[in-house]
Amino acid sequence: MYLIFRCRCGRHLYAQEGAKTRTCPCGRRTTLAKARILARAEDAEAAGEMVRALQQKDRGMTGFRPAG
Ligand SMILES: [Zn+2]
Repeated sequence: MYLIFRCRCGRHLYAQEGAKTRTCPCGRRTTLAKARILARAEDAEAAGEMVRALQQKDRGMTGFRPAG
């Protein structure tokens, strides 16, 4: 099981359940026990999809951007 949560910088991240911390590309380390879990996914692929969907929802009406 994978947990989806949000870093304080606004990025959505996922981590395997049981992991203690996850470091975001921004450099902040999130302690999973203290993170607000937004969603759960069966596997890394599903977690990645979910993160992508959340990021797009966040951008909202600001327009479509190419991946990457
Ligand atoms: Zn971050």
